[in-house]
Amino acid sequence: MPKVSIDSLELNGRRVLVRVDFNVPVATDENGERFVSDDTRIRAALPTIRRITEAGGRAVLLSHLGRPNGKPDPALSLAPVAKHLASLLASPVRFVPCTVGPEVISVIRDMAPGDVVLLENTRFLPGEKENDRGLSAQLAEMADVYVNDAFGTAHRAHASTEGVAHLVQTAAMGKLMEIEISFLSRILDSPETPFVAIIGGAKVSDKIGIVERLLDSVDALLIGGAMSYTFMKSIGVGTGDSMVENECLKAAADLLTRAGDRIRLPVDHVVATSFDNEAQIRIASGVIPDAEMGLDIGPATVEAYRTVILGAKTLVWNGPMGVFEMPSFASGTIAIARAMAEATERGALTVVGGGDSVAAITAAGLESRVSHVSTGGGAMLEFLEGKTLPGFAALTSV
Ligand code: AMP
Repeated sequence: MPKVSIDSLELNGRRVLVRVDFNVPVATDENGERFVSDDTRIRAALPTIRRITEAGGRAVLLSHLGRPNGKPDPALSLAPVAKHLASLLASPVRFVPCTVGPEVISVIRDMAPGDVVLLENTRFLPGEKENDRGLSAQLAEMADVYVNDAFGTAHRAHASTEGVAHLVQTAAMGKLMEIEISFLSRILDSPETPFVAIIGGAKVSDKIGIVERLLDSVDALLIGGAMSYTFMKSIGVGTGDSMVENECLKAAADLLTRAGDRIRLPVDHVVATSFDNEAQIRIASGVIPDAEMGLDIGPATVEAYRTVILGAKTLVWNGPMGVFEMPSFASGTIAIARAMAEATERGALTVVGGGDSVAAITAAGLESRVSHVSTGGGAMLEFLEGKTLPGFAALTSV
């Protein structure tokens, strides 16, 4: 169902309550001051914020940060995020140390057109995760228009992402939400073929849903990361000491049977005798011997996957090919990032999502050379599994 976009709204003078995803890493400097150490998600919300301020709207921003369990935790205050946002916008951002209540109402009343206010962490309130109707109503009262731009939390039905949307006259998608949904819809509904998915990471259990759904449409599904070993073991290939989810062996074997030759597994591996960047490494083809563990895809696999990637017209990638946090086991993931950039240059539509794959493509300096880097890991997986995202579904339909 198409949703109302912020671009179609008259915002001049209006109070625009925007749910953003400012759940960013925050570190502490030598003076004990907290600062934002990766501002990707804040930058991703700037087009929506600027759309409001340039139209003379009053932008009231809401976000969660971390997991404070429904009570205030100074270590998870959004205060440093407000400071960082002000520097990115090059204009003041007023931080309010509460999320609802008389102080918030009075600050909003005093806002001038074009002003930006950031409220305190929504998850300091127990009603947020409980999707409490009372809290949703308090939020709705503060808004002439509600905008959801928090794609990264759209798979959660919380008061600030879902409940409030039902209680306002207009609940629109922000510009980031619109871009995310439009790229992922193209992949889900009408991918130009060959359509290839690359799925990696640690756990098959997290990815069974997406593998199942993608098998409806993919021409090839390239598997990497520790997930590979559960698939290999499920068909009797030795995996030594590699990470395996024994409870998923049956599901993995069933998926392989259903996929025929469309699921590709690594043909060689970077192996070591311990989970350690300094460990002696070697390349093992096929079977991984006892006492060794697979920690990255090997060079023959990289070559084979690269060929498939370069032949594709639509590509989606989620999850690293190995323990990419350790330089000894990062080559496979970096090679896939490069192949994605090359495929994009050749005209393919390429989408990368999930914290680790995004970190890898950013570390390789290739994030601007793919069609789209998704800000949502869990939300992207659930969308591609075909599940409804409550934070999107609750928005006003066109
Ligand atoms: P996920 O959250 O499921 O996408 O998994 C990401 C994590 O999987 C990263 O922290 C990787 O280090 C880890 N990982 C990838 N490949 C392997 C492997 N072969 N053995 C152990 N951990 C792995």
